[in-house]
Amino acid sequence: MSGGWLASGGHGVLANAYGLGVDNVIEFKVVLPVGGLVTASRCQNKDIFFALAGGGPNTVGVVMESTHITHPVTPMQVAFMGILTPTVNDAKKFMELSASRALDFQKRGWGGYLAITPRVGEMSAIIMVNPKLSTAEATSDVQPIIDWVATFPADKIVANGVFPVDTFYQAFTQFLVGPTGEAAPIGQPATVGSRLLTEELWAPSAVNGTVKALQDYMIALDPPAGEESYGIVVQYCLTSPFNTPATGFTAEPAAWRKTVLHALGGVAWSYDSTRDYKQGRKTALDTAVGILRKLKPNGQCYMNECFYDEPNYEKTYWDSAVYTKLVAIKKKYDPTALLNCWKCIGWKGASNPKYKCYT
Ligand SMILES: Cc1cc2nc3c(=O)[nH]c(=O)nc-3n(C[C@H](O)[C@H](O)[C@H](O)COP(=O)(O)OP(=O)(O)OC[C@H]3O[C@@H](n4cnc5c(N)ncnc54)[C@H](O)[C@@H]3O)c2cc1C
Repeated sequence: MSGGWLASGGHGVLANAYGLGVDNVIEFKVVLPVGGLVTASRCQNKDIFFALAGGGPNTVGVVMESTHITHPVTPMQVAFMGILTPTVNDAKKFMELSASRALDFQKRGWGGYLAITPRVGEMSAIIMVNPKLSTAEATSDVQPIIDWVATFPADKIVANGVFPVDTFYQAFTQFLVGPTGEAAPIGQPATVGSRLLTEELWAPSAVNGTVKALQDYMIALDPPAGEESYGIVVQYCLTSPFNTPATGFTAEPAAWRKTVLHALGGVAWSYDSTRDYKQGRKTALDTAVGILRKLKPNGQCYMNECFYDEPNYEKTYWDSAVYTKLVAIKKKYDPTALLNCWKCIGWKGASNPKYKCYT
């Protein structure tokens, strides 16, 4: 948590209610390449704090410790509507019903995931939590989706309704991890691509095009039968800090605060796949991400979950004033770029031998 997750911002289902991970950091203790163990906060070594809170991994130092704001245990509503996908058209309809309402969901304080798959027989679901609404208010927000799910035969319905819980832990263990049964795969050879889709894409004149692009991205990433797949095909995340304004102390892309959906998808291969096969899967991902790039030209993405070979990565990961500031901070605390990584601040370029596994 103190390392890579926070280095690029850190999103999650409660980000709408409480902000990104970096919004909740009080201080870091960090070892600097120029020497010294220092404490960085919003009051002390502010430039180091800025770089650690969204500047990307390996920008200024090795984090030894971080201290966080905690929040009171709060009851919340869990909306969980899931079906075993009957047909590809049903998956598209589910996407339309859910994604077209995503801006309203954000405004009402929901956070969660649209995990909809065109793979017949696999689960498509929308799972969200909300610590602000009563059960009746929450149910009213998702009633059209509940009504649609209820039209399917009982043996196709995994869940359909709003379930009050006493704690986030309960929501997490019983709903967010539990029924999907999807323990995050560890060490799977895979790579992802994404875009932060911001609120203007939900304007009345734009929303149909946005839904169409989200459906197309889902279909484009569904691998042909028999091919390796990356868990669920796409995960459209309602995990942005939509209702939490930027503080100016952190370096994540400005697009995060206006993001309605963090549109994420991936491709996978096997440990013994050929180089050509892997290259083919990566090209397929790049092509699919092109659908999102076209939907939002010059858009941004979340560095931790961007396509690894994103062109113009400096502009896609950071706003230009932030990038310039991060480069200056890097020069000050790590002048030889002792710490560096692929397309991070201080990246030594694709031809550097360190990166041969990427190329
Ligand atoms: C299955 C899965 C689910 C995910 N879900 C989410 C999600 O819900 N929300 C989200 O925000 N992200 C998510 N991510 C992305 C995640 O934020 C990144 O993979 C992140 O890089 C993980 O950080 P790590 O420290 O665990 O990883 P590592 O691979 O260990 O590190 C990543 C980078 O950070 C650097 N680093 C690690 N520790 C330190 C340190 N102490 N000091 C300085 N640099 C350090 C490393 O050198 C490396 O460059 C997910 C990833 C996966 C694989």
